[in-house]
Amino acid sequence: MIIITRASITDAELDAIRERIEQRGMRTHLSRGVERTIIGCIGDESLLAEVPLRSMPGVEDVVPVLKPYKLASREFAAALSVVRVGDDPSRPGRVAAFGGPAIAIIAGPCSVEGPDMLRETAEAVRDAGGVMLRGGAFKPRTSPYAFQGLGASALKMLADVRRTTGMPVVTEVMDPRQIDDVAEHADMLQVGARNMQNFSLLSELGRVKRPVLLKRGLSATIKELLMAAEYIMAQGNRDVVLCERGIRTFEVATRNTLDVAAVPVLKRETHLPVIVDPSHAGGVADLVAPLSFAAIAAGADGLIVEVHPDPANALSDGDQSLSLDGFRELMRRLAPFAAAAGRSLGTSADSARAGAAA
Ligand code: PEP
Ligand code: MN
Repeated sequence: MIIITRASITDAELDAIRERIEQRGMRTHLSRGVERTIIGCIGDESLLAEVPLRSMPGVEDVVPVLKPYKLASREFAAALSVVRVGDDPSRPGRVAAFGGPAIAIIAGPCSVEGPDMLRETAEAVRDAGGVMLRGGAFKPRTSPYAFQGLGASALKMLADVRRTTGMPVVTEVMDPRQIDDVAEHADMLQVGARNMQNFSLLSELGRVKRPVLLKRGLSATIKELLMAAEYIMAQGNRDVVLCERGIRTFEVATRNTLDVAAVPVLKRETHLPVIVDPSHAGGVADLVAPLSFAAIAAGADGLIVEVHPDPANALSDGDQSLSLDGFRELMRRLAPFAAAAGRSLGTSADSARAGAAA
C-alpha cells in the first residue's frame, strides 16, 4: 500500500508514520515530489490491520497497491523517475539523463573490437548528438564458437574512450563475478535479454552504485520485466532504465518482433524510464530508422542503436549495425519525430545542462 501525505506534513510527522509501520515489521520507501510525498509500504500488509494510519497526523489517503511490483510501480513514486548516468563526482564527464524532457540516444558497436574503431565510433556518435556510448566486452553469443568479446581489455578501452570523449559508457555484465570490474570501468551496467531472469545477478546489481539498463527477455512478459526491475530495486538500487528490444514470436521476417505497445504499457505501469533497441528488434540496418520513429511516437525516453565504422566486417551483429554516416542520417531524421512527441533530442537543453553541471 501507499500512504499519500498532506502537503503540510512535517518531518516529525513523516518519521512517526514510518516508525509505526516499521515497528510492525514492514519496510517503507519515501518518494518526495514537488506536490506530494508518498510513503510506500513493502511486506505483509495484514501486519498493519490494527494501525489507524488514516487518522495519523499528515496522512491524506491510504491506497492499496495490488500489483506484484511495488518499488517499480507508478503508484510508489511521487513523480516519474529521471535516471542520470555518468553523475559520479569522482569521474568528470558528461551526464546522460533518461526520463527527462530530452530523448537520450545511446549508440556504439555491438562488440568493442579495438581502441581505434571504438574511438572513431564514439566521436561520430557524440558529434551527431548521441549522449552515451555502448559497446560489448562480454558477449552473450548463441554459439560458444562465435566471438565472445574482448573481455577485460575491452573494459579498459571503454574507460579510455570515456575519458577522451567525455561520454558515459554502458556495457553488459553477464555474471555476478564481473560486476566490480564492469562498475569500475563503465557508467551503466547492462543486463542482456538472456539474463533478465538471472535473479542472483539482479540482486547483486541492486547493491551497486551504478544505474542499470535492464533489457526485456526474449520471451518475457511485461510483468516479468517489471518484476526483474523489482529484484534490483529491492536491494537498494533505484536507478533502473527498462529496454524493449523485441520479443520472440512466430514471425521470422524480422529477428525479433518489436513490441511497440510495451512502451505505453510500461509508461502507464512504472515511473522508470523506458528505451527501445531497434537494432536487435529488427535485425537489419534498414529497419532501424522506422522502428526508432515508432518507438519515439509511442513515448520512448531513448534508444540504444548499434553503430560500426565498417558494418560488413563487424565481428558481431554487422547486419543490423548502422554505418557512421547511417547514424548521422538517423539522427537528422529523428528530430521531427522527437518534436512531434513534444521532446527534444539528447543534445539540447536537459543533457547539455546536465553535462555542464558535471
Ligand atoms: C546487445 O545489446 O548487444 C545484446 C546482446 O542485446 P540483447 O541482450 O537484447 O540480445
Ligand atoms: Mn548486438
